[in-house]
Amino acid sequence: MFGTNKIIARLDEMLTDAINGSFTESCYDETELSRLESKFRQYLTGKELATEKVKTERTAIKELVTNISHQTKTPLANICLYTQLLEEISGEETLPYVRQIRLQAEKLDFLIRTLTKISRLESDMIRLSPKYQPVFPLVETALQEIRGQADAKTVTVRMADMDTDEIRASYDARWTKEALGNLLDNAVKYSPKAGTVTVSVTALEMFVRICVEDEGPGIPEEERAQIFERFYRGKNAAPEEGNGVGLYLTRMILQRENGYVKVSCEKSRGSRFYLYLPRV
Ligand code: ADP
Repeated sequence: MFGTNKIIARLDEMLTDAINGSFTESCYDETELSRLESKFRQYLTGKELATEKVKTERTAIKELVTNISHQTKTPLANICLYTQLLEEISGEETLPYVRQIRLQAEKLDFLIRTLTKISRLESDMIRLSPKYQPVFPLVETALQEIRGQADAKTVTVRMADMDTDEIRASYDARWTKEALGNLLDNAVKYSPKAGTVTVSVTALEMFVRICVEDEGPGIPEEERAQIFERFYRGKNAAPEEGNGVGLYLTRMILQRENGYVKVSCEKSRGSRFYLYLPRV
């Protein structure tokens, strides 16, 4: 009985070490372990090594993405610039081709810029500086910036009637505008022609909630957990331009200022995305 208790205690100790990340083979002397304990040690050592390998590989992939993004940024900016110049001097026959090259280069440029932002945030090269400030200027600027795009698609973007002047939250103005901009960009993009996008702000006890509501197709329930993953595009998203990094970046920004982003859809009523900004 005593032997069993001892073994259980030792297994418990090994497991605790593994959970705390302090499990190493050298902590446990093989000669002092029973067969069961030895097997368990072997299993945990293997698991520890595999976890370590995954971590190293993840870091290497992130570094690769950072390097590629960084190295391609300047050449791409030049391609965009020169195709723009070429467009100005192109004749009728070549103009459609040059325009296509410019559009494709601009798309790639947008993707590379977003990936660069993501990798800089992930590697803590950029840190957010949240400040306790009014929420209204954030919403107002984001709405102004999306208006051109919305007008081009005859989508109305409106702010719900409410007194937002006094509502304050803790957020980084530049990055939160980027996050809200992504939600508005999607809302307009996935809206039907002549649809309406409504933005509302609500002060809750711990958070200020900004809601972006559209009249688009909504998001199937089985996709809702995945849409915040990197490069995920919904199965109905294909007709619209996109690369599946907008919501991933949005979530990352909100996490870094102790807020969060959520989605909810009611049947045939479009999507509602919420940004929660902490009030303290
Ligand atoms: P992108 O829009 O470039 O595909 P995002 O990361 O911004 O990438 O969004 C991921 C996916 O979430 C989209 O492909 C789409 O399926 C879905 N989605 C996001 N916003 C909306 C929306 N307002 N209405 C419907 N689907 C949306």
